[in-house]
Amino acid sequence: MSVDSISGTLAGIGVLLLLLAAYLVPSILAFHKRKANRVAIFTLNFLLGWTGVCWVVALVWALAEDAPGQLPAASPAAAPSGFTRLCAACGAIGNGKYCRACGVELDRRNA
Ligand SMILES: [Zn+2]
Repeated sequence: MSVDSISGTLAGIGVLLLLLAAYLVPSILAFHKRKANRVAIFTLNFLLGWTGVCWVVALVWALAEDAPGQLPAASPAAAPSGFTRLCAACGAIGNGKYCRACGVELDRRNA
């Protein structure tokens, strides 16, 4: 292997790394900003970023501010067991089979 081909290979690797870094800019931004949905942004960026459209979507998503409800600290206490349902009888919000306020059976369709 000549010195020329080695330096050519190194330059090629450098260009590839630069392209990879540019390709992953939305993911890098999302992780840097500690976005609540950074894993989803990375998945979109990595799997569909090559389409161009999805790369822009991932970038915009990474740059957008988290909605208050999406913050990781706010979500675990709010919905411990998954489904949140609205009681049709009294309007209270519950997550069990029955309304804690009036005892009426909660309907999944009201969620
Ligand atoms: Zn109720």
